[in-house]
Amino acid sequence: MDDGWLRRALGAKRDGESLDEATWHRIIAGYVAGEIDDAPVAALAMACAIRGMTDPEVRALTDAMVRSGDVLQFPSGKTIVDKHSSGGVGDTVSLIVVPLVAACGVPVAKLSGRALGHTGGTLDKLEAIPGVRTDLDPAAFVAQVEAIGCAIAAQSERLVPADKRLYALRDRTGSIPSIGLIAASIVSKKIAAGAGAIVYDVKAGGGAFMRTVAEATLLADTLVRLSERFGRRASALVSDMEEPLGAAVGSGIEAVEARDFLRGDERDPRLAEAVFAVAHEMLRLGGLAAADVEARALDVLQSGAAYERFRAMVEAQGGSRAALDALAADPHRAAATARHGGFVAAIDAAAIGELARDLVAAAGPFAGIRIVARVGTPVDTGSVLAECVGAGADPQRVAAAFTIAPEPPRPRRLVEAVVRDAVLAGSSY
Ligand code: URA
Ligand code: CA
Repeated sequence: MDDGWLRRALGAKRDGESLDEATWHRIIAGYVAGEIDDAPVAALAMACAIRGMTDPEVRALTDAMVRSGDVLQFPSGKTIVDKHSSGGVGDTVSLIVVPLVAACGVPVAKLSGRALGHTGGTLDKLEAIPGVRTDLDPAAFVAQVEAIGCAIAAQSERLVPADKRLYALRDRTGSIPSIGLIAASIVSKKIAAGAGAIVYDVKAGGGAFMRTVAEATLLADTLVRLSERFGRRASALVSDMEEPLGAAVGSGIEAVEARDFLRGDERDPRLAEAVFAVAHEMLRLGGLAAADVEARALDVLQSGAAYERFRAMVEAQGGSRAALDALAADPHRAAATARHGGFVAAIDAAAIGELARDLVAAAGPFAGIRIVARVGTPVDTGSVLAECVGAGADPQRVAAAFTIAPEPPRPRRLVEAVVRDAVLAGSSY
Protein backbone atom coordinates (compact mmCIF):
# COMPACT_ATOMS: atom_id res chain seq x y z
CA MET A 1 0.00 0.00 0.00
CA ASP A 2 1.21 3.52 -0.72
CA ASP A 3 1.16 5.07 2.73
CA GLY A 4 2.94 8.30 1.90
CA TRP A 5 -0.28 10.16 2.77
CA LEU A 6 -0.24 8.62 6.26
CA ARG A 7 3.40 9.56 6.89
CA ARG A 8 2.67 13.09 5.75
CA ALA A 9 -0.40 13.26 8.01
CA LEU A 10 1.62 12.07 11.04
CA GLY A 11 4.36 14.59 10.28
CA ALA A 12 1.79 17.37 10.08
CA LYS A 13 0.22 16.38 13.39
CA ARG A 14 3.66 16.08 15.00
CA ASP A 15 4.41 19.66 13.90
CA GLY A 16 1.19 21.00 15.41
CA GLU A 17 -0.99 21.20 12.32
CA SER A 18 -4.50 19.81 12.26
CA LEU A 19 -5.78 17.00 10.04
CA ASP A 20 -8.83 17.38 7.83
CA GLU A 21 -12.01 15.38 8.12
CA ALA A 22 -11.25 13.05 5.20
CA THR A 23 -7.90 12.12 6.73
CA TRP A 24 -9.45 11.21 10.09
CA HIS A 25 -12.04 9.05 8.35
CA ARG A 26 -9.38 7.35 6.22
CA ILE A 27 -7.18 6.59 9.24
CA ILE A 28 -9.99 5.15 11.39
CA ALA A 29 -11.52 3.13 8.54
CA GLY A 30 -8.06 1.78 7.61
CA TYR A 31 -7.27 0.91 11.22
CA VAL A 32 -10.52 -1.00 11.77
CA ALA A 33 -10.14 -2.81 8.44
CA GLY A 34 -6.63 -3.94 9.43
CA GLU A 35 -5.00 -1.98 6.59
CA ILE A 36 -3.23 0.32 9.03
CA ASP A 37 -1.38 -1.29 11.93
CA ASP A 38 -0.85 -0.11 15.53
CA ALA A 39 2.42 1.77 15.02
CA PRO A 40 1.21 4.81 13.07
CA VAL A 41 -2.01 5.05 15.11
CA ALA A 42 -0.04 4.97 18.38
CA ALA A 43 2.17 7.77 17.05
CA LEU A 44 -0.93 9.75 16.05
CA ALA A 45 -2.54 9.31 19.49
CA MET A 46 0.65 10.50 21.18
CA ALA A 47 0.86 13.50 18.85
CA CYS A 48 -2.76 14.35 19.78
CA ALA A 49 -2.00 14.00 23.51
CA ILE A 50 0.99 16.33 23.23
CA ARG A 51 -0.11 18.80 20.54
CA GLY A 52 -3.85 18.83 21.23
CA MET A 53 -6.73 18.62 18.78
CA THR A 54 -8.98 21.26 17.25
CA ASP A 55 -12.74 21.22 17.58
CA PRO A 56 -13.27 20.06 13.95
CA GLU A 57 -10.71 17.29 14.45
CA VAL A 58 -12.51 15.95 17.54
CA ARG A 59 -15.78 16.06 15.65
CA ALA A 60 -14.31 14.26 12.61
CA LEU A 61 -12.73 11.57 14.79
CA THR A 62 -16.00 11.05 16.69
CA ASP A 63 -17.95 10.73 13.45
CA ALA A 64 -15.41 8.28 12.01
CA MET A 65 -15.60 6.18 15.20
CA VAL A 66 -19.42 6.09 15.15
CA ARG A 67 -19.28 4.90 11.52
CA SER A 68 -16.93 2.05 12.43
CA GLY A 69 -19.87 -0.03 13.71
CA ASP A 70 -23.63 -0.28 14.20
CA VAL A 71 -25.89 2.50 15.51
CA LEU A 72 -28.89 1.49 17.66
CA GLN A 73 -32.37 2.66 16.67
CA PHE A 74 -35.29 2.86 19.08
CA PRO A 75 -38.57 2.44 17.17
CA SER A 76 -40.81 4.23 19.69
CA GLY A 77 -39.45 7.60 18.67
CA LYS A 78 -39.38 8.83 22.29
CA THR A 79 -36.26 10.64 23.40
CA ILE A 80 -33.97 8.04 24.97
CA VAL A 81 -31.78 9.48 27.71
CA ASP A 82 -28.37 8.13 28.63
CA LYS A 83 -26.05 8.95 31.50
CA HIS A 84 -22.30 8.66 31.67
CA SER A 85 -19.96 8.98 34.63
CA SER A 86 -16.28 9.48 33.99
CA GLY A 87 -15.59 6.95 36.72
CA GLY A 88 -15.30 7.24 40.44
CA VAL A 89 -15.23 5.44 43.77
CA GLY A 90 -18.48 4.53 45.50
CA ASP A 91 -20.39 5.96 42.53
CA THR A 92 -23.63 3.99 42.75
CA VAL A 93 -25.64 6.71 40.99
CA SER A 94 -26.32 4.78 37.76
CA LEU A 95 -27.98 1.82 39.47
CA ILE A 96 -30.32 4.21 41.29
CA VAL A 97 -30.99 6.90 38.71
CA VAL A 98 -31.68 4.66 35.71
CA PRO A 99 -34.87 3.07 37.18
CA LEU A 100 -35.79 6.32 38.97
CA VAL A 101 -35.83 8.34 35.73
CA ALA A 102 -37.61 5.51 33.88
CA ALA A 103 -40.28 5.48 36.60
CA CYS A 104 -40.86 9.19 35.83
CA GLY A 105 -41.73 8.24 32.22
CA VAL A 106 -38.41 9.06 30.56
CA PRO A 107 -36.81 5.97 28.94
CA VAL A 108 -33.16 5.27 29.76
CA ALA A 109 -30.84 3.04 27.74
CA LYS A 110 -27.51 2.75 29.49
CA LEU A 111 -24.46 1.01 28.15
CA SER A 112 -21.87 0.67 30.88
CA GLY A 113 -18.31 -0.40 31.40
CA ARG A 114 -16.39 -2.62 33.76
CA ALA A 115 -14.26 -1.54 36.69
CA LEU A 116 -11.14 0.28 35.51
CA GLY A 117 -8.18 0.67 37.90
CA HIS A 118 -9.45 1.85 41.28
CA THR A 119 -12.86 2.92 39.92
CA GLY A 120 -15.91 0.69 40.11
CA GLY A 121 -17.89 -0.55 37.12
CA THR A 122 -21.69 -0.45 36.95
CA LEU A 123 -21.79 -3.84 35.20
CA ASP A 124 -19.88 -5.51 38.03
CA LYS A 125 -22.31 -4.02 40.56
CA LEU A 126 -25.41 -5.16 38.68
CA GLU A 127 -23.99 -8.65 38.07
CA ALA A 128 -23.39 -9.03 41.82
CA ILE A 129 -27.15 -9.72 41.97
CA PRO A 130 -27.41 -13.49 41.37
CA GLY A 131 -28.74 -14.38 37.91
CA VAL A 132 -28.44 -10.90 36.40
CA ARG A 133 -26.89 -10.73 32.92
CA THR A 134 -25.59 -7.62 31.21
CA ASP A 135 -24.52 -9.17 27.89
CA LEU A 136 -27.77 -8.26 26.14
CA ASP A 137 -27.54 -8.31 22.37
CA PRO A 138 -28.54 -5.04 20.70
CA ALA A 139 -32.04 -6.27 19.77
CA ALA A 140 -32.75 -7.48 23.33
CA PHE A 141 -31.41 -4.23 24.77
CA VAL A 142 -33.68 -2.11 22.54
CA ALA A 143 -36.68 -4.39 23.19
CA GLN A 144 -36.21 -4.17 26.97
CA VAL A 145 -36.06 -0.36 26.92
CA GLU A 146 -39.22 -0.28 24.79
CA ALA A 147 -40.99 -2.72 27.14
CA ILE A 148 -40.03 -1.53 30.64
CA GLY A 149 -38.35 1.83 30.04
CA CYS A 150 -34.82 0.96 31.08
CA ALA A 151 -31.84 -1.36 30.67
CA ILE A 152 -28.21 -1.40 31.76
CA ALA A 153 -26.02 -3.53 29.52
CA ALA A 154 -22.46 -4.04 28.35
CA GLN A 155 -21.22 -2.23 25.28
CA SER A 156 -21.78 -4.56 22.32
CA GLU A 157 -18.77 -5.50 20.19
CA ARG A 158 -20.69 -4.18 17.21
CA LEU A 159 -20.91 -0.60 18.49
CA VAL A 160 -17.83 1.57 17.91
CA PRO A 161 -15.28 -1.22 17.36
CA ALA A 162 -12.75 1.52 16.59
CA ASP A 163 -12.93 2.72 20.19
CA LYS A 164 -12.12 -0.68 21.65
CA ARG A 165 -8.93 -0.94 19.60
CA LEU A 166 -7.93 2.69 19.99
CA TYR A 167 -8.56 2.73 23.75
CA ALA A 168 -6.47 -0.42 24.28
CA LEU A 169 -3.68 1.08 22.17
CA ARG A 170 -3.78 4.38 24.09
CA ASP A 171 -3.71 2.47 27.36
CA ARG A 172 -0.48 0.70 26.28
CA THR A 173 1.18 3.81 24.95
CA GLY A 174 0.55 6.51 27.55
CA SER A 175 -1.95 8.49 25.49
CA ILE A 176 -5.11 8.17 27.56
CA PRO A 177 -4.87 11.73 28.98
CA SER A 178 -6.03 13.82 26.01
CA ILE A 179 -9.29 15.73 26.33
CA GLY A 180 -9.96 15.42 22.58
CA LEU A 181 -9.35 11.65 22.46
CA ILE A 182 -11.34 11.08 25.66
CA ALA A 183 -14.28 13.15 24.39
CA ALA A 184 -14.34 11.36 21.02
CA SER A 185 -14.19 7.99 22.80
CA ILE A 186 -17.05 8.76 25.18
CA VAL A 187 -19.36 10.65 22.81
CA SER A 188 -19.00 8.17 19.93
CA LYS A 189 -20.28 5.39 22.21
CA LYS A 190 -23.26 7.47 23.35
CA ILE A 191 -24.21 8.41 19.77
CA ALA A 192 -23.92 4.79 18.58
CA ALA A 193 -26.08 3.66 21.51
CA GLY A 194 -28.96 5.71 20.13
CA ALA A 195 -29.19 8.35 22.87
CA GLY A 196 -31.22 11.45 22.06
CA ALA A 197 -30.09 13.20 25.23
CA ILE A 198 -27.04 12.61 27.38
CA VAL A 199 -26.06 13.66 30.90
CA TYR A 200 -22.36 13.47 31.69
CA ASP A 201 -21.04 13.38 35.25
CA VAL A 202 -17.39 14.37 35.09
CA LYS A 203 -15.53 13.63 38.30
CA ALA A 204 -12.77 15.87 39.59
CA GLY A 205 -10.24 15.04 42.29
CA GLY A 206 -7.77 12.47 43.55
CA GLY A 207 -10.18 9.58 42.92
CA ALA A 208 -10.85 10.58 39.29
CA PHE A 209 -9.05 10.67 35.96
CA MET A 210 -9.41 14.47 35.91
CA ARG A 211 -7.49 15.71 38.95
CA THR A 212 -8.66 19.35 39.00
CA VAL A 213 -12.01 21.10 38.64
CA ALA A 214 -10.55 23.18 35.79
CA GLU A 215 -9.59 20.06 33.77
CA ALA A 216 -12.92 18.39 34.51
CA THR A 217 -14.80 21.54 33.44
CA LEU A 218 -12.93 21.62 30.13
CA LEU A 219 -13.86 17.97 29.51
CA ALA A 220 -17.48 18.65 30.57
CA ASP A 221 -17.71 21.58 28.19
CA THR A 222 -16.16 19.56 25.36
CA LEU A 223 -18.59 16.65 25.90
CA VAL A 224 -21.63 18.95 25.83
CA ARG A 225 -20.47 20.86 22.76
CA LEU A 226 -19.52 17.70 20.85
CA SER A 227 -22.86 16.03 21.66
CA GLU A 228 -24.77 19.11 20.51
CA ARG A 229 -22.82 19.09 17.23
CA PHE A 230 -24.39 15.66 16.65
CA GLY A 231 -27.86 17.03 17.34
CA ARG A 232 -28.11 15.57 20.85
CA ARG A 233 -29.32 17.46 23.90
CA ALA A 234 -26.67 17.33 26.57
CA SER A 235 -25.56 18.64 29.91
CA ALA A 236 -22.66 17.82 32.20
CA LEU A 237 -22.05 17.97 35.93
CA VAL A 238 -18.62 18.51 37.36
CA SER A 239 -18.63 16.72 40.70
CA ASP A 240 -16.26 16.10 43.56
CA MET A 241 -14.24 12.88 43.79
CA GLU A 242 -11.89 13.91 46.60
CA GLU A 243 -13.63 11.27 48.73
CA PRO A 244 -15.79 8.25 47.80
CA LEU A 245 -19.26 9.32 46.68
CA GLY A 246 -21.55 6.88 48.52
CA ALA A 247 -20.83 5.13 51.83
CA ALA A 248 -20.35 1.70 50.23
CA VAL A 249 -17.29 0.88 48.09
CA GLY A 250 -17.25 -2.59 46.50
CA SER A 251 -19.42 -4.04 43.72
CA GLY A 252 -21.84 -6.16 45.78
CA ILE A 253 -22.23 -3.80 48.73
CA GLU A 254 -22.89 -0.98 46.26
CA ALA A 255 -25.72 -3.07 44.77
CA VAL A 256 -27.07 -3.46 48.33
CA GLU A 257 -26.75 0.30 48.82
CA ALA A 258 -28.68 0.98 45.58
CA ARG A 259 -31.46 -1.42 46.56
CA ASP A 260 -31.76 0.09 50.05
CA PHE A 261 -31.73 3.62 48.63
CA LEU A 262 -34.54 2.85 46.17
CA ARG A 263 -36.53 0.96 48.81
CA GLY A 264 -36.17 3.88 51.22
CA ASP A 265 -34.40 1.84 53.93
CA GLU A 266 -31.32 4.03 54.02
CA ARG A 267 -30.09 7.00 51.98
CA ASP A 268 -26.57 8.33 52.28
CA PRO A 269 -26.98 12.13 52.03
CA ARG A 270 -24.02 12.65 49.67
CA LEU A 271 -25.22 9.91 47.36
CA ALA A 272 -28.73 11.37 47.48
CA GLU A 273 -27.45 14.80 46.47
CA ALA A 274 -25.65 13.27 43.47
CA VAL A 275 -28.67 11.17 42.49
CA PHE A 276 -31.00 14.19 42.53
CA ALA A 277 -28.55 16.35 40.59
CA VAL A 278 -28.16 13.74 37.83
CA ALA A 279 -31.88 12.85 37.79
CA HIS A 280 -32.73 16.55 37.47
CA GLU A 281 -30.67 16.90 34.30
CA MET A 282 -31.91 13.61 32.81
CA LEU A 283 -35.56 14.48 33.38
CA ARG A 284 -35.13 18.03 32.07
CA LEU A 285 -33.42 16.80 28.89
CA GLY A 286 -36.06 14.05 28.62
CA GLY A 287 -38.73 16.71 28.31
CA LEU A 288 -40.14 17.28 31.82
CA ALA A 289 -40.75 20.89 32.82
CA ALA A 290 -37.92 22.06 35.09
CA ALA A 291 -40.44 23.10 37.77
CA ASP A 292 -41.88 19.55 37.98
CA VAL A 293 -38.64 17.62 38.08
CA GLU A 294 -37.91 17.63 41.83
CA ALA A 295 -41.46 16.66 42.83
CA ARG A 296 -41.62 13.84 40.25
CA ALA A 297 -38.33 12.33 41.38
CA LEU A 298 -39.37 12.40 45.06
CA ASP A 299 -42.79 11.04 44.22
CA VAL A 300 -41.50 7.91 42.43
CA LEU A 301 -39.10 7.24 45.30
CA GLN A 302 -41.76 7.63 47.99
CA SER A 303 -44.44 5.67 46.15
CA GLY A 304 -42.07 2.74 45.57
CA ALA A 305 -42.43 3.12 41.77
CA ALA A 306 -38.66 3.64 41.35
CA TYR A 307 -37.90 0.48 43.33
CA GLU A 308 -40.50 -1.50 41.35
CA ARG A 309 -38.83 -0.35 38.13
CA PHE A 310 -35.43 -1.48 39.46
CA ARG A 311 -36.93 -4.88 40.28
CA ALA A 312 -38.49 -5.11 36.81
CA MET A 313 -35.11 -4.36 35.23
CA VAL A 314 -33.36 -6.97 37.41
CA GLU A 315 -36.02 -9.55 36.50
CA ALA A 316 -35.87 -8.72 32.78
CA GLN A 317 -32.12 -9.31 32.92
CA GLY A 318 -32.31 -12.71 34.61
CA GLY A 319 -32.46 -11.90 38.33
CA SER A 320 -35.37 -12.53 40.68
CA ARG A 321 -37.25 -10.72 43.41
CA ALA A 322 -36.00 -13.30 45.90
CA ALA A 323 -32.36 -12.77 44.86
CA LEU A 324 -32.79 -9.02 45.21
CA ASP A 325 -34.41 -9.35 48.66
CA ALA A 326 -31.70 -11.75 49.83
CA LEU A 327 -28.84 -9.46 48.82
CA ALA A 328 -26.70 -8.77 51.90
CA ALA A 329 -23.22 -7.58 52.79
CA ASP A 330 -20.69 -10.14 54.04
CA PRO A 331 -21.20 -10.38 57.85
CA HIS A 332 -17.47 -10.14 58.73
CA ARG A 333 -16.59 -6.68 60.04
CA ALA A 334 -13.39 -5.00 61.18
CA ALA A 335 -13.28 -1.36 62.22
CA ALA A 336 -10.68 1.05 60.88
CA THR A 337 -10.19 3.56 63.69
CA ALA A 338 -8.58 6.96 64.19
CA ARG A 339 -5.13 6.94 65.81
CA HIS A 340 -5.61 10.48 67.12
CA GLY A 341 -8.38 13.03 67.42
CA GLY A 342 -9.18 15.94 65.10
CA PHE A 343 -11.21 16.33 61.93
CA VAL A 344 -11.28 14.08 58.88
CA ALA A 345 -9.51 16.38 56.43
CA ALA A 346 -9.22 14.04 53.42
CA ILE A 347 -10.03 10.50 52.31
CA ASP A 348 -7.82 9.06 49.59
CA ALA A 349 -10.57 7.80 47.26
CA ALA A 350 -8.15 6.03 44.91
CA ALA A 351 -6.61 4.10 47.85
CA ILE A 352 -10.06 3.19 49.20
CA GLY A 353 -11.10 2.02 45.71
CA GLU A 354 -8.01 -0.19 45.43
CA LEU A 355 -8.36 -1.64 48.95
CA ALA A 356 -12.05 -2.40 48.32
CA ARG A 357 -11.20 -4.10 45.02
CA ASP A 358 -8.55 -6.24 46.77
CA LEU A 359 -11.07 -7.19 49.47
CA VAL A 360 -13.64 -8.22 46.86
CA ALA A 361 -10.97 -10.31 45.12
CA ALA A 362 -10.04 -12.00 48.44
CA ALA A 363 -13.40 -12.34 50.21
CA GLY A 364 -16.02 -12.29 47.44
CA PRO A 365 -18.40 -9.80 45.80
CA PHE A 366 -20.16 -8.77 49.04
CA ALA A 367 -16.98 -7.53 50.69
CA GLY A 368 -15.62 -3.99 50.54
CA ILE A 369 -15.37 -0.84 52.62
CA ARG A 370 -18.08 1.28 54.23
CA ILE A 371 -17.11 4.88 54.92
CA VAL A 372 -18.37 5.96 58.34
CA ALA A 373 -16.59 9.30 58.96
CA ARG A 374 -16.92 11.70 56.04
CA VAL A 375 -14.57 14.58 55.30
CA GLY A 376 -15.29 17.26 57.91
CA THR A 377 -16.37 14.83 60.67
CA PRO A 378 -14.82 15.47 64.12
CA VAL A 379 -13.20 12.30 65.55
CA ASP A 380 -11.54 11.16 68.79
CA THR A 381 -8.79 8.58 69.21
CA GLY A 382 -10.42 5.21 68.46
CA SER A 383 -13.43 6.65 66.56
CA VAL A 384 -14.55 4.42 63.71
CA LEU A 385 -13.53 5.89 60.33
CA ALA A 386 -14.67 2.99 58.16
CA GLU A 387 -15.85 -0.60 58.38
CA CYS A 388 -13.98 -3.27 56.47
CA VAL A 389 -16.55 -5.75 55.18
CA GLY A 390 -15.37 -9.34 54.58
CA ALA A 391 -12.73 -11.57 56.14
CA GLY A 392 -9.02 -10.86 55.81
CA ALA A 393 -9.13 -7.06 55.70
CA ASP A 394 -6.28 -4.89 56.93
CA PRO A 395 -8.02 -2.08 58.88
CA GLN A 396 -4.73 -0.21 59.43
CA ARG A 397 -4.30 0.29 55.71
CA VAL A 398 -7.87 1.49 55.39
CA ALA A 399 -7.35 3.93 58.30
CA ALA A 400 -4.19 5.18 56.57
CA ALA A 401 -6.34 6.45 53.68
CA PHE A 402 -7.87 8.99 56.12
CA THR A 403 -6.04 12.22 56.92
CA ILE A 404 -6.90 13.59 60.38
CA ALA A 405 -6.05 17.27 60.94
CA PRO A 406 -6.41 19.58 63.93
CA GLU A 407 -8.64 22.04 62.03
CA PRO A 408 -11.82 21.32 60.05
CA PRO A 409 -11.21 21.36 56.27
CA ARG A 410 -12.58 24.05 54.02
CA PRO A 411 -16.05 22.83 52.92
CA ARG A 412 -16.27 21.64 49.30
CA ARG A 413 -19.34 21.42 47.13
CA LEU A 414 -20.35 18.04 45.76
CA VAL A 415 -21.55 19.48 42.46
CA GLU A 416 -19.02 22.10 41.40
CA ALA A 417 -20.72 23.13 38.16
CA VAL A 418 -23.46 22.20 35.72
CA VAL A 419 -22.59 22.83 32.07
CA ARG A 420 -25.80 23.25 30.10
CA ASP A 421 -24.50 25.31 27.27
CA ALA A 422 -20.94 24.90 26.26
CA VAL A 423 -19.45 28.32 26.87
CA LEU A 424 -15.69 27.98 26.98
CA ALA A 425 -15.64 27.62 23.19
CA GLY A 426 -12.07 26.41 23.38
CA SER A 427 -10.80 25.46 19.97
CA SER A 428 -8.01 23.15 20.97
CA TYR A 429 -7.49 20.45 23.62
N1 URA B 1 -13.53 6.64 29.20
C1 URA B 1 -13.73 6.33 27.91
O1 URA B 1 -14.71 5.73 27.55
N2 URA B 1 -12.79 6.70 27.02
C2 URA B 1 -11.68 7.38 27.35
O2 URA B 1 -10.87 7.69 26.49
C3 URA B 1 -11.47 7.71 28.72
C4 URA B 1 -12.43 7.32 29.61
CA1 CA C 1 -27.06 23.36 25.44
